[in-house]
Amino acid sequence: MRILINDGIEPIGKQLLEEAGFEVDMNKINQDELPSRLNDYDAICVRSATKVRKELIDACPNLKAIGRGGVGLDNIDVEYAHSKGIAVINTPAASSRSVGELTMAHMLGLSRFLYQSNRQMPVDGDTKFNDLKKAYAKGAELEGKTLGVIGLGRIGQETARVGLGLGMNILAVDPYVSEVTLAVGPVQLGFKILLRTVTMDDMLVASDYISLHIPSLDKAILSKDEFAKMKNGVIIINCSRGGTIDEDALLDALNSGKVAAAGLDVFDNEPTPRKDILTHPRISLTPHIGASTEEAQNKIGEELAQKMIAALKGQRVV
Ligand code: NAD
Repeated sequence: MRILINDGIEPIGKQLLEEAGFEVDMNKINQDELPSRLNDYDAICVRSATKVRKELIDACPNLKAIGRGGVGLDNIDVEYAHSKGIAVINTPAASSRSVGELTMAHMLGLSRFLYQSNRQMPVDGDTKFNDLKKAYAKGAELEGKTLGVIGLGRIGQETARVGLGLGMNILAVDPYVSEVTLAVGPVQLGFKILLRTVTMDDMLVASDYISLHIPSLDKAILSKDEFAKMKNGVIIINCSRGGTIDEDALLDALNSGKVAAAGLDVFDNEPTPRKDILTHPRISLTPHIGASTEEAQNKIGEELAQKMIAALKGQRVV
């Protein structure tokens, strides 16, 4: 069987597919040529660039599986593919740890003013060293603090695991999850913790840090009313999706001092976030790089290959 890898895959993914006996073609075919050429293959793997829409599926009756390296399936007509008996697979879990660790990087950086210090040291470090030392002297440890996690899915659970590892208390909110068992520390040691979710209000009033790990919703989950309920000096992290925080309300809360600082990996209007967010002195910023680690990319390649092998060999794919 032949598999077209149209948007690239990590070497481990190609290796696994070939070891399983598949012929792997890594030569990209332009979107407009796919209808006439994809039928020579049994499966296609894409990232976000290549679209696999109804018309392409209709043109390729030989197609048996469509793989998407990553989470979103916006570029694939999933229901239509299923209706034609074509398996559609993705790799939603592969980047969870990376996003959880970026969340913690923002929390640690904000707690010790790294984001400000890195901006000011090149400018004033040689002339106002002692002033800067004083300005960034009131740091905080994470141990013993309470981390509110909104959304206890794959990434929320990884974030909770990292927080637990640092000695934080976790208050998680998720209307669809009542409890989870988390492995804490190296998995092989077998330490497990049962974490029960709490109400939004209980989390809001008690958390020192609040981190979002929810999908896009109809409206922001953190807005004026929610900020009003939070502890003074809370730190907010968003590595989920733009739109989950009301950015106006966040700026108001930062400027009033209610929120001490924020760490943002995601924004309204990506890829052109608003300037007052980008230039705010108390926001730590990253350009939507939550999933962007070598490990996550390798896990994506590995998971995609394993699921593709299972799909093409007729096993059930979860
Ligand atoms: P997931 O589906 O595993 O978990 C989401 C959780 O949110 C679920 O448990 C769901 O029950 C919960 N939820 C839904 N509505 C809720 C609500 N109103 N209140 C509280 N919880 C609610 O998804 P995931 O893989 O953990 O991803 C979480 C988010 O992270 C998604 O928005 C995803 O797009 C985003 N993400 C960001 C990056 C990045 O680069 N920053 C990378 C990957 C994923």
